[in-house]
Amino acid sequence: MVTRFRATLLYLVALVSFAAGVWWFAFTSDLRGLAARGEADLSLASGRLVGQLQQFRELSVLLADHPALTELLAGQGNVQAAERVLLRAADKTGTLEILAVSRTGLVMAASGPHRGDLGGAPYLRRPLEDGALGTYNAVNPETGIRSVTFAAPVFSPAGPVIGAVLVRARIGAIEAEWRGDAMTVAFTDDFGVVLSSNRLELLFRVRGEPTPGIEARYRGVDFLPFPDVQSFYVAGLELWRLDAGRYLPRLALHLTQPLPVIEMTGEALVDVAPSLRLAAWQALVVLALGLVAGALFLILADRRRALAERLAMEAEANVVLEKRVKERTGELSATNAALRREVEERRTAEAALKKAQADLVQAGKLSALGQMSAGISHELNQPLMAISSFAENGAAFLERERPEKAAENLGKISELAGRMGRIIRNLRAFARQEVGEVRPVDLGNVVEAVLELSEGRMKREGVELEWAPPPQPVVAMGGEVRLQQVVMNLISNAIDAMEGRSPKRLTIGLEPGTPVRLRVADTGCGIDAPDRIFDPFYSTKEVGHSEGMGLGLSISYGIVKSFGGVIRGANRTGGGAEFTVELSPCEQEAAA
Ligand code: ADP
Repeated sequence: MVTRFRATLLYLVALVSFAAGVWWFAFTSDLRGLAARGEADLSLASGRLVGQLQQFRELSVLLADHPALTELLAGQGNVQAAERVLLRAADKTGTLEILAVSRTGLVMAASGPHRGDLGGAPYLRRPLEDGALGTYNAVNPETGIRSVTFAAPVFSPAGPVIGAVLVRARIGAIEAEWRGDAMTVAFTDDFGVVLSSNRLELLFRVRGEPTPGIEARYRGVDFLPFPDVQSFYVAGLELWRLDAGRYLPRLALHLTQPLPVIEMTGEALVDVAPSLRLAAWQALVVLALGLVAGALFLILADRRRALAERLAMEAEANVVLEKRVKERTGELSATNAALRREVEERRTAEAALKKAQADLVQAGKLSALGQMSAGISHELNQPLMAISSFAENGAAFLERERPEKAAENLGKISELAGRMGRIIRNLRAFARQEVGEVRPVDLGNVVEAVLELSEGRMKREGVELEWAPPPQPVVAMGGEVRLQQVVMNLISNAIDAMEGRSPKRLTIGLEPGTPVRLRVADTGCGIDAPDRIFDPFYSTKEVGHSEGMGLGLSISYGIVKSFGGVIRGANRTGGGAEFTVELSPCEQEAAA
């Protein structure tokens, strides 16, 4: 942060220095151009002034040779003729005044009313004493008229100076031509008096302390001091700072040009404010551009830094994320492996359970077979004995040659053999281990098969059976052998419950519909604990009793459940118990 602040500060300092350099360069180069233009303009103005005055100078020289004047000054001519010449010349050239003065300074002839003795006038010294052309600037204290006087000596034919011609030209008339110029132009004499300028407020102002001799020349004229000027140099050029009213520049380039011909110095003040403004604008533009570039650079740098920080943060976050993903993946793989293991264990347990269940079913069946064995042997014994007696009787009838009776006996034998065959078939089917598939089973057939096996026992025990086989097959989804086992169990339990009671009525009912219902009801002792009867090894039967294993109902429960059905046991209101098996109907049947 500190480095950034320091760098910004350094940049600003450098920028301001650079802008200052630009300002300086722009200002000085513009100043040089200004100086060149100003000098040219000043030369032009000076040239014009000098040129205009030059003609008055030449007029003085020409008139000095005029015969009317030379004769008059030599004492031979006449004043009127000379004055006519002077007046004509003054009129034609716009001269203020033309005088012809004698060797002693006496005005001999004049274009105007001027008369008198000018002896001792400083401007007469050069022509009268030295025989040379004299130039003299003056101000009339009464009229305020500024003039330049050119004094040309007049020589006698023999040689010596006999007088002089003075041509006085008015300066104001000349300067009127360049009064509107933008540049301030002033012409000062050797005393520093401003005699001509295109700014009236500068006229008659004297720069510095009045020098001796000024009084002698400008007698009676009140000079004003020149405005305060602070002069200094920039790039070798003189600049003036002054406070002299709204028509003069506050800061100006001061140019000078000596004009020896008219004994004046041309001076120009060129306003440098436009140059200053231009330089300031250029510096400002550079400053603004620099600031904009700096701001842009700062913004870009900020953005870059923010981007770098974000990237760094993202990279860091990525690392954390990757680490987390790795950890999570590890955890998930471990969980996955554990799950797989669990699934495998479950599968094994399920297989073991299934096997145990199958074993149990088989055991149950075998136990039921055991239960039935006495009855079955009785069941088979009875027809066997009947067969043997029918056979003996048949043989006797044949011996007595009563074949029709013998045939009748043989028919009964065959009927009994058929019945025995059915019982054995049912037993074999019952003992068979059925695979776990579920298919449509006719429940009427199931009941019939079981009844066939239990018929003997029921008869022996005097059980009355109420069973009306349904007119239409009642088909449910299940396994035939396993359902036989369930029904066999229910019938066996019912017969057991009715032992020693009266009446002994076993009612079996079959109701088609959804679900298909099979009811086995008895008039027995009723169920002691209806909510426990399906528990494995729950039995109220005596130990050692041929039945009492306590597995019959729990196996039946498992079988019915495996078909998606329900088995329930409850006591009947009039005494005895009723068991209901509900099974899903066969789809085709239900659809039909
Ligand atoms: P087990 O017949 O070997 O006892 P079960 O599981 O077949 O085993 O029957 C369990 C018990 O349910 C029986 O001991 C008996 O108490 C009761 N039970 C079953 N059927 C009947 C029934 N029809 N009437 C009265 N109680 C019954």
